[in-house]
Amino acid sequence: MERNWDLAKVSDGKLYESNDLVKVGCNGCKDCSACCHGMGNSIVLDPFDLYRLTLGLGKTPEELLDSALELNTVDGLVLPNLKMQEENEACFFLNEEGWCSVHSYRPGICRIFPLGRIYQKDQFRYFIQIHECKAAHKTKIKIKNWIDTNDIEKNDAFILDWHYFLKNYQEQIKAGILKGAEWKQVNLRILQCFYLTPYDRDTTFYLQYEKRRKLWL
Ligand code: SF4
Ligand code: SF4
Repeated sequence: MERNWDLAKVSDGKLYESNDLVKVGCNGCKDCSACCHGMGNSIVLDPFDLYRLTLGLGKTPEELLDSALELNTVDGLVLPNLKMQEENEACFFLNEEGWCSVHSYRPGICRIFPLGRIYQKDQFRYFIQIHECKAAHKTKIKIKNWIDTNDIEKNDAFILDWHYFLKNYQEQIKAGILKGAEWKQVNLRILQCFYLTPYDRDTTFYLQYEKRRKLWL
């Protein structure tokens, strides 16, 4: 998502890689679920999130879109995000005890919080969003452990590829090159190809993603 902010104001001014130690450990989020409330449509999902959620919950993408997810436009592209419930602005997956009911399958944005990613010159780095998590006595942890995702190199490669895949279309939309029926067609194709076509449990996500991406080359 394209944002206009000053990194110096929202972070400690440093950029980190996945092997770096960062002070974000929040001791199991004791009695806190602040970042599972009031997030609007900012928790945008990528194809790996759909893979994890659909297979983890045994639900189809359509079933999730009828309940926990919704579609919104992100810089001109229609993408799914976690839906906040109207009555209390809580994520659909937050249970009554204040715990994430999909912890093992939670989306990538939830996994990295309160870290953010910044993309520069065909790579990305992490930064700490210093105003986001108010937990006291934070502990140091390696980013790759905090993210709690297997095959971190493959995951990094996917994150990067997905970012620039979307950015290419978002820039065309911004420039007015991609519009009208063609814009609609690209949106439908992205949704169908990466989100609505079910993923197979017996093949790794990365192989399935690679196969789908080749359809766009
Ligand atoms: S705001 Fe921090 S402590 Fe609270 S739930 Fe989120 S990560 Fe945990
Ligand atoms: S998926 Fe889990 S961690 Fe993410 S916002 Fe919802 S309840 Fe919180």
